[in-house]
Amino acid sequence: MNVALLSGGVGGARFARGLVSAVEPAGVTVIGNVGDDLDVLGLAVSPDLDSIIYALAGLHDEERGWGRSGETWEALGTVSSLGGEDWFRLGDRDLGLHLVRTQALRSGEPLSAVTARLARALGIEAAIVPATDDRLRTWIDTPAGSFPFQEWFVARGHRDEVDGVRFEGEARPAPGVHEALAGADAIVIAPSNPYVSIWPILAVEEIRAALAARRVPCVAVSPLVGGRAVRGPADRMLARMAGGTTPAHVAGCYAGLIDALVVDESDSAGLLAVRRIVTQTLMTDLDASRRLAEVVLGAAA
Ligand code: GDP
Ligand code: CA
Repeated sequence: MNVALLSGGVGGARFARGLVSAVEPAGVTVIGNVGDDLDVLGLAVSPDLDSIIYALAGLHDEERGWGRSGETWEALGTVSSLGGEDWFRLGDRDLGLHLVRTQALRSGEPLSAVTARLARALGIEAAIVPATDDRLRTWIDTPAGSFPFQEWFVARGHRDEVDGVRFEGEARPAPGVHEALAGADAIVIAPSNPYVSIWPILAVEEIRAALAARRVPCVAVSPLVGGRAVRGPADRMLARMAGGTTPAHVAGCYAGLIDALVVDESDSAGLLAVRRIVTQTLMTDLDASRRLAEVVLGAAA
């Protein structure tokens, strides 16, 4: 079975791990958000792709949800003691990946090619593809001004309320994205933040168009449990920008693009424009992630 998964970082990576344990990994293509990508200390960092890579390679830190397990922070400590830029946390183990990617990008290798190479080197069978090789950046509009995504999210601790999100850059799908969507038996939208993880992927016009014109089911998983984000600002963003945190508000983020929404048992049962599938969506461990993936695939069958 071929599955194309649109994914952000933490929630997306947790789901991706369940998905590749529920189906033949070679049939899975994870299309990752790059709207959060940034330069840190001269290094090219792709936080969402990295969360997916580490999760599928089994190197991820389960509790933190991002970065590597067994991580240490000596290099960052040196940066701090030297008065360097230390607001974005890069661990010692993590650094190596950024070094390899940065060198590759500098030498002209596209992000999709270096991402595939990193995944292969770590023994990952699924394909991991950035939504685009072009520069696409998420901007957050708040009452305190407009900020690049990571400045709002990390440096300001996503405290500012969000009035809108914008995507800078004309982007074409990376090689492999179109093929994955066209060849998929099911398209899945991970339980990621709709506004800042999935919308930047859909901001690539050809990806949005492919979803709108799909001939196979597209199933989204809500990132909310009981109307609350498991972590992060998705609930506050939905409340302010969509007017609420029910399944209908989540589905509204994907209007015309999905056939079904998978929601948690604890969520409200109000009217929904697409098919509703109710299950336990909290991915407490790999088993829970796999069960959720199986429900999603069942909904797409
Ligand atoms: P980010 O790029 O690291 O912010 O990651 P994502 O956008 O992929 O994931 C963040 C979203 O994942 C948040 O809105 C969380 O509510 C959601 N999330 C995290 N863990 C779970 C879970 O176990 N179940 C569900 N349904 N959503 C989750
Ligand atoms: Ca992200």
